[in-house]
Formats: sequence, structure tokens, C-alpha cells
Amino acid sequence: MVQRLLVLGSTGSVGDSVLDVVARHPASLMVYGLSAHRRIDKLYQQCRQFRPAIAVVSEPQHAIELQAHLLAADVPTQVLCGVEALCSAASAPDADTVVAAIVGAAGLLPTLSAAQAGKKILLANKEALVMSGAVFIETAANAGAVVIPLDSEHNAIFQCLQGCQGMLEGVERLILTASGGPFRNRPADSLADVTPDQACAHPNWSMGRKISVDCATMMNKGLEIIEAHWLFNLPASRIQALIHPQSVVHSMVVFRDQSVMAQLGNPDMRMPVAHALAYPQRMESGVEPLDLTRFDGLTFEHPDVERFPCLGLALQVLADGARASAALSAANEVAVEAFLGRRIRFTHISQVVEQTLQEIDVPTQSDLEAVLALDHQARRLAREHVRLCGLSR
Ligand code: NAD
Ligand code: MG
Repeated sequence: MVQRLLVLGSTGSVGDSVLDVVARHPASLMVYGLSAHRRIDKLYQQCRQFRPAIAVVSEPQHAIELQAHLLAADVPTQVLCGVEALCSAASAPDADTVVAAIVGAAGLLPTLSAAQAGKKILLANKEALVMSGAVFIETAANAGAVVIPLDSEHNAIFQCLQGCQGMLEGVERLILTASGGPFRNRPADSLADVTPDQACAHPNWSMGRKISVDCATMMNKGLEIIEAHWLFNLPASRIQALIHPQSVVHSMVVFRDQSVMAQLGNPDMRMPVAHALAYPQRMESGVEPLDLTRFDGLTFEHPDVERFPCLGLALQVLADGARASAALSAANEVAVEAFLGRRIRFTHISQVVEQTLQEIDVPTQSDLEAVLALDHQARRLAREHVRLCGLSR
């Protein structure tokens, strides 16, 4: 049977990996829809190659331009625009599988729409899950949606858990590995001066700029621990992060009997993509075979929360019940954008997030309305802190 895909965020780094795998399997995978925010040229090329039924963009002017170009090239794709179009595409009967690969909070509503419609969801957009937590998990469970993580660590854990009955009793803890990012060994007192390009130069993975900065601050690992909490229904005390600079072991599960299962491979997103697309079968991914003899050793160490305060902030939010996680994610998005735009220093990112968390009103409810209100409030506070940090540069 052919699997029809909607790829949300198809022009990004994850989107590239997804379409690379799709192109290898024309008999079993078909693109129903694609979406992009600003990179319209790239979306145009993707539409020419995959000839989807629909393509969704954010700006009306882009939609008009893209539609005209596609018509001229005889490509039968209908161009749509805006968040409502993304949400209806995500629940359309013509899509069997929705790949959630938009970055940040912008992906929340379309991903939730896919969950509501009971789709198979390939989840890369961790911010959507971190923000909405219980709302997302309950919506997906009630509608019978199947969520398969694309985030390499969570995909690894998902694979290690195959065949495990009674997850809560059988699993002692999860170990998420982290590369440590580009500043793992850099003197802490020089971090204030690093540039966006230095922060985005990840040693092992090639990714979008926002997640690359998150790896450099280790907020990424903090968000991933919260993501693991929701995906695998385990408390914070049973989820651990270890620095593993070689990025070969993608994560591990420690079982009650002290058996440890790990998933290994080269750091290439096409591996979790192929796994999730073919699940429960397997398909070729294009990833280079792993040559373990190439490494001097595989090493593991505890992360230093002093050096990476963002990780500590995320762990605190989870320990407090994760009710403030939408604020954590929103403030981080605002701060990272300001850092990438050279308005604040690298070391200001954790300050902006911390100060925002201190000032928000933590909601007592956890419905979608409360999540969106918290996101809004946190962005407002974070922008103000960005402004103040910017003045002190
Ligand atoms: P990216 O910046 O390369 O791509 C982001 C995509 O989202 C683009 O297609 C862009 O057009 C779209 N987009 C951005 N803002 C939008 C908006 N306001 N409205 C609609 N669309 C918008 O990012 P990425 O590295 O591909 O990451 C995507 C998501 O996957 C992130 O949540 C990230 O944390 C997660 N993730 C990425 C990787 C990786 O290897 N890149 C690994 C694990 C998880
Ligand atoms: Mg990851």
C-alpha cells in the first residue's frame, strides 16, 4: 500500500532528510503535501520533483507567486496559505502520515490537528510536544493517532522498547545521549563572546539554526528530557542525560533487570526517518554503514549544569510538574532568535529564559487555551528581557 505524506516544514533540515528517503521509495511513498515558511524557491523545486496535490506557505504574496510559477511549469499543485490551511491539510483524508518538521511553536496547531484526526505522526517538532504536553498526548490517544518520534534520541528509545510489555514496571530509566555541542570544552568565561556561526557549527549533526543553538546551550537536551517524559510516560527522576561526544549511541534504555539496550548508527536523520516511515517494517535509508573501528573509543560523562544553565532550567520546570514548559520553550525561542540576530550575547539566552520563568503566572489548567496564553505571556516578558540584555551588551 502506498503511504501518502504531508511534510510540514519540508524546506528545513529534517524536511530534506524526509524527502531524500521518500525519493528512494517511489513505489511505497507518495507526497500529498509540502509546506514552507519563507524559502519559496526551494519549495518550488520540491513541488517540481514530488508533484504534491497541495503546498502551503505563510504569506499570501508568496502563495500568489508560487502558484504562478507552478502553473507556468505545468505542475498541478494547489498553493494554500496560512495556519488554517496547514491545520486542514494535517487532517485531510488524503494524508495518511503527517511529518511534523516545522521548528518551534509555529508547528503546534497543525501537529495537534494531525493528532485530532488520528494520523500517523512523525514527530520532529519537539517544541510542539514540550509546550502542549498532556493536551497533545491525550488528543492523540483519544483519536487513535500513532506518534513515532523522529528526534534521534527518542526514536532510539522507541526502537529499544520494542517488545517490552509493561513499560512502567519493566523500565528503570532512560538515558538520552547528548553530543555536548560545539562548546563542550570551551572555557566558560569565553562563552559570552561566541558568534551565531560558532554556535551553529555542531560537531556531528547538520541541523537548522535554532536547534543548533539549542544544542550549544544544551536547552535542546532539556527540551528532549521533557519530550521523553511525555512520549514515554516516565517521571523526571527516571530520565537521565549523558554527554557522548561521538554521537554513535543515540540513546539507551535501562531495564529493571539491569539489561541496557542501546541503538547505534551514524548521526544522520535519514535513519530515524526511514525507521518511522517503514515502521513496523524496515526500509533502506541511504545512511552510510557504521564503522565502529573508526572510533578510538565511545565515551560518556555527566553534563555540567553550571556550564549549561539552560539544561538546569528545563530540569527544574519538569521537576515542578512541567506546567511552565510552554513558557520555557517560548522564552527560549525569543532569546535564540535575538542571539541569532546578534541582539544579545550567547550567555544572555539562559538569563532571558530564567527571568521569564520567574515572572510568569503558572497556569492551574493545562488546556490548549492556557498553553497559548502562557506562550503569549512568556514571549512578551522575554522580549522585554532581550531588550534589557541588548542594552547591556
Ligand atoms: P529548519 O529551520 O531547518 O526548518 C524549519 C522548517 O519549518 C522550514 O521548512 C521552515 O520553512 C518551517 N517554518 C519555520 N517557521 C515557520 C512558521 N512560522 N510557520 C510555518 N513554517 C515554519 O529546522 P530543522 O532543523 O529541520 O528542525 C525542525 C524541527 O525538528 C525542530 O523542532 C527541531 O527541534 C526538530 N529536530 C531537528 C533535527 C535536525 O536534525 N535538524 C533533529 C531532531 C529534531
Ligand atoms: Mg535530538
